[in-house]
Amino acid sequence: MKLTRHYPALMPGCDTDAVLRRPIPVSYVAVLLLLLCFCIGCRYLKSIVGRSDPPERAPAFEEIQKIDVHAHLFEAIPRLIEMMQRNNVSIINVCNRGRDGHLETMHRIARQMYRKHSDLFPFASCFDLTRVEEPGYTNEVIAWLDGSFKDGAVMTKIWKEVGMEVRRRDGSFVLPDDPVFDPIYRFLAAHGKPLMAHVADPVDGWLPLNRESPHYGYFANNPEFHLYGKPGYPSHETLIAARDRILQQHPSLVVIGAHFGSLEHDLDEVALRLDRYPNFIVDCAARTRDLTRQPREKVRRFFIKYQDRILYGVDSTWKPFRETIPPTEQQRTAFINGLEKKYRTDYTYYAGTGSTQYDGRTVEGLALPRNVLEKFYNRNAHRIILEPARSRVEER
Ligand SMILES: [Zn+2]
Repeated sequence: MKLTRHYPALMPGCDTDAVLRRPIPVSYVAVLLLLLCFCIGCRYLKSIVGRSDPPERAPAFEEIQKIDVHAHLFEAIPRLIEMMQRNNVSIINVCNRGRDGHLETMHRIARQMYRKHSDLFPFASCFDLTRVEEPGYTNEVIAWLDGSFKDGAVMTKIWKEVGMEVRRRDGSFVLPDDPVFDPIYRFLAAHGKPLMAHVADPVDGWLPLNRESPHYGYFANNPEFHLYGKPGYPSHETLIAARDRILQQHPSLVVIGAHFGSLEHDLDEVALRLDRYPNFIVDCAARTRDLTRQPREKVRRFFIKYQDRILYGVDSTWKPFRETIPPTEQQRTAFINGLEKKYRTDYTYYAGTGSTQYDGRTVEGLALPRNVLEKFYNRNAHRIILEPARSRVEER
């Protein structure tokens, strides 16, 4: 079988008719078809692996808007504001701890910072946990949270004190899925407010202290949360199961599992829950170093597969209201410089190619594609937290 070419003469003076009549051997067509298949195959592979070849240039640090969804910064220091603006960073200021006596002060500062710089400091509320057994508790919490949303809060947080510290009078622990919280969770779901849930701790908190653990310093310095060998405390598994039951029982409540849902030691466990619960989202706050200890390709695949479900966060804390002596200018500067360095180091890991230093170790950058970086650093936070909050305010 012979095929005929159908294009005009390419050269001036060429005999067009002769060209048109010239047959093309079938082998040429086969080679062309093979080439076409190869190209399509390459594009397909590229799309599933999410990697350009040659790798695309990482966007400059300042180019990507960064929303740190998990921060506790309770002082509007001018230098902090300058650093955030210069680096294209905003934060969600998360109020936390419902039983340390600072609930009102913390919310007042968060509100003031938000009113003055609404673009830089949206905030998340939390609620009292000292009176869970008192009559009317749930309704009071709902009224408090409603007030916080009217003031602009974009979500609510529960901290690990629920499950690890808060007890009933009989000594039993109040778990995060305790029925006392059900009306609160229903209220949040009905108002489109996500629940940021820091439930449990890294699993290392239930294991013997180990200098190799990325959490060694934390558990060595905070022995009250190192539960290894302390019978009577809920296990890591029990707490994770309680959190999972919230996801199950409140399917319209968006739950943001802080710190990869306390399953940072194994992304397969996180993936399992992301697959099972469409209302589950995770943040990476204070757990990027856990990622750097897992195989790079596995971490990269996770970020690409769940690109719509992961939020960026650092979990930096600046709470001068807790201290009796105010911080010095030097301390403020050191803190702000440290935070800027953290934003930059994280970015080099997530966006960069080749090896980089992270937490004193040499690791290889994830080189996430730009589209994935944008979702992780800002689009997911807009879609999941900030935009629903904005549209609710407009509805009022
Ligand atoms: Zn935190």
